[in-house]
This record gives sequence, C-alpha cells and structure tokens, in this order.
Amino acid sequence: MDTRTLHFIIIDSWHPQAVMKELEAGNLPALQFLVRHGRMSLDCASIFPTVTPACLTSLATGVGPDQHGITGVLWYNRGTDRYVHYWPYPQSLYWGTIDHVITDFFLRMNREHLSPRIKTIFELLEEADVPSASVNFPISRGPYQHTAQLPWFIRRLGKLPRDLMIPGPRYMRHGDMIRGKQPRNRFFGKYGFNDHQSALHTAELVREDRPAFLLTYLNENDLRTHHKGPENIGWSLRRVDRELGLMLDAYGSWEQAVKHARWIITGDHSQSNTYPYRPGYAVNVFKAFPKHRVAPLRGGGLEEHGFDFAVTPNDRMSMFYFPQNRAEVRDDVLEIVSQWPSVDQVFWREGEWFHGLKRETGATMRWRRGGPHVDPHGETWELHGDLSVAGAALVGNRVIYPGDYPNTVSRVASALSVPGGGSLLVTATLGREYTSGFPMGRGNHGSLHAQDTHVPLVMVGVDTPVVNPRTIDIVPAILREFGVALPDYMRPTMPVPREAS
Ligand SMILES: [Zn+2]
Repeated sequence: MDTRTLHFIIIDSWHPQAVMKELEAGNLPALQFLVRHGRMSLDCASIFPTVTPACLTSLATGVGPDQHGITGVLWYNRGTDRYVHYWPYPQSLYWGTIDHVITDFFLRMNREHLSPRIKTIFELLEEADVPSASVNFPISRGPYQHTAQLPWFIRRLGKLPRDLMIPGPRYMRHGDMIRGKQPRNRFFGKYGFNDHQSALHTAELVREDRPAFLLTYLNENDLRTHHKGPENIGWSLRRVDRELGLMLDAYGSWEQAVKHARWIITGDHSQSNTYPYRPGYAVNVFKAFPKHRVAPLRGGGLEEHGFDFAVTPNDRMSMFYFPQNRAEVRDDVLEIVSQWPSVDQVFWREGEWFHGLKRETGATMRWRRGGPHVDPHGETWELHGDLSVAGAALVGNRVIYPGDYPNTVSRVASALSVPGGGSLLVTATLGREYTSGFPMGRGNHGSLHAQDTHVPLVMVGVDTPVVNPRTIDIVPAILREFGVALPDYMRPTMPVPREAS
C-alpha cells in the first residue's frame, strides 16, 4: 500500500477559467509544478445547491445533501421550527440572533446537523487507523475530542464558554482556537481562519507529525470573488498559489513534495458574474410574496405560528418549505415564481416524482428514481417530457448533459430528497441572485449552471481514476488510495467514460 501522505486541499470558489488564465500567463508557479507532475481536469462537477456548507460537507463525506443533511448556508430546521444559518446577516447583530449563527456553525453543524448515519473522511480513515489531520476545515467530525479556546469576541456573542470540546481527527488545527505552535492572529487575522495560517498549520503538521492524510481548507478566495467577480480574481489566485508553495516547501523542496506526498486540490464550487445593482437582479425573497405570510428569518415558527411557508435564499437559488397538508400554498408559490424574470428553472417534488419547469421556454419534465435511463454515473431514472429543462438529452437510454447544466437530474433529486427538507426550489438566471436584503457583490454561486458548478481538480501521485469527475467522487478515491473499504451507504455507481457518451 502507498504510505505517502495524501494532501487534500480545498480552495473556496475556485474558478476554472480564471485559474487557466493565470496558469497560462505563468502566474501560478506552485500549481503549475503540481499540474506538470500530475493531471488536471477543469470540469469537476459540484453538488447542488452550489453553496459552501453543503459543498464542503459533500467533499468531506462523498455523498449529496439527501444523505448528509446540510442543505445550504441557510436552511429550515423543521425539528426546531426555525432557520439555521452558518453566516451572520447584518441583521443578526441588532436582532440579537448572532448567538444562533455562532452556535450553529461552531457546535451544531458537526454535532447535530451532519447526519449521524454517514461518516466523514476523518472518521472513515481513523477507523482504519490512518492518522488524519484537519486544518481550518469546518466539517471536521472525528473520533478525537480537541479543546478549542474561543476568542472572547465570539464567546461573548455566541454566549459560549471559553473552552469548547470539538470532535475531530487525530490532528486538528482550527484558527486561533486550536493553533499548535502558531501565534494568535486575533481580529485582523480573522482569528486564524486565513489562508496563510492554513498553510503554516499544514507545514507544521508535515514537519512534526507527518499524518497520512491532511485536509487543508483555504477560504479567502471566496469572499474576494464575491466582491470583485470571477473575472477579476487573478490577484487572489496568485496569493493562494503562494500558500500552496509554502505547503510544498514543507518537504524541503517541491521535488521532494511530489516524491514523498500525494496531492488532490479542488474547489467546493465556482462563481458566476452577478449584477446586484441592476434593478430586479437581487431579489429579496422575504419581500416578494405580499399576499402570503412568510416565516420570518428572525424567529421562524413555520408550524408553531401557522405561516404559509418558509423560504431560504441560498445565493443563486432559493428553497421553499411548506407546512404539512398545505399543497394549495405550494401551487400558489409555483404559479408566482414561474412568472419571475429572475427565475431560470423551477423544480418541485410530489411523492416519488420530481418535476421541472424552464421558465423562459415553458418546457416541463418529470422523473423518478429507477427505470430504463442511465446517467453518466450509472444512476438509473425514469424520465418524461422535455429534458432541456435539466439541460439533459437522451441517446438511446443514456442520459447525457450536452449543455451548461451538469448532472442536473441527479443533483436536483438529491436536493429535493433531504429528510424534512424543502419541496420546491428555484434557480436564478445568470447574473441574478436571491437575498434577504443584502446582495453579495459582483460574483455569486448557488445554481445548477456550469459556471457555478465546475471546479478544477488536480491530482498528483494518485492512481485511482476519477472519470467524469464530481466532488463526491473524491472521498471514495481517497479511501481507495488508502485501501479502505467504501461504506455501504455510498451508492455504487459505474462511471461511464466520457468518450462513450
Ligand atoms: Zn464556497
């Protein structure tokens, strides 16, 4: 068995065209070195919704949101009858709800929201006695308990104690909270949740502990891309590359780094251009239904107070949650959103059937699991209607995706099959987004479109083939690299070579 350390590096909002432009200009020497010693694809498909917490959880578990349960940056928890949000809104401060956001992110995401029925890559590897490490990565659940010291600022806002037990793999670094030998970064260093700190933590772990598996998360490119847009992000990619170089340096030289370690680098999702200041391009969904009582972001109470529905804007998609036995409200909402110029597609679920509508053309389709139609990853479906809704087509019984919407049938089915999840969703046309009142900037993501979905995937020293790559194929590839059996809940799929489709 190959015992070289395997690095899994996740770069938030890694945009394939922007990366290629910088690579071709010779501006990303570390990435260029890795690509020269391995292979790179530019169309690794993320899950849906293409938003960070859902995508990171899929990267850490190898399954979609229907199985891991973390369905977005904002979702409705029917168990507690309130919204769950992992990123504070400006409103959170004056509403006094920021403690919910902080405890959702730091405590409940790993302990409660992440399904106990599935395992993280850290749990799977540590069970097989593969020493593992997590660096600044939020989905870290593992068999070891680590004492984290919360900064007073977060402690005060989150109404939390100073010391917190966080479950993780054998080795863990978590900003300033679990920081090894690194100095504190404090407020202006984002409490250690910055890329340079991630690289320093990683280099320290390589030099001192040399875990067999090491996952490093670089988060800063995401917010920069939101602000500047994906076409103006070369400067950020160059900064990320310097941190990659620092991690390679930990082996003494870059040549040693590819000789003594294996490398997998990918993104959680990409981004597309948005125009939030054009009228109608940033839609506040909480204000878009004047005739309905929408469960408010602040308190929720969908069932308790008998609201018509809850809605969770997730950047370039929105999910709708209806109370039990209120099918007529679902039909109202379907009719309303089908008229919105911002809507690209509407998808909804009735029993085992998934339905889709392309707003611009009025085309419709429906499908369910099982049946004669085989998609590029070996999943089988029964499809009816105009498949252009999902950007799909049939060649004989094979489902192909010739256009801009990769793996839509499977990805939508997963998003609409979350236990207790929403039953209707909309995606935004390119350039537009859904908000709770605060637009994100010149770049955003969330939809099914390839521009939000495709990320580069770089593999160096990894023999396991990944055909028609998806981000959920990386955990199985890592398990195979370490000779660890795949758990039963990972659906067996049979990749179909691209040439054959
Ligand atoms: Zn992200």
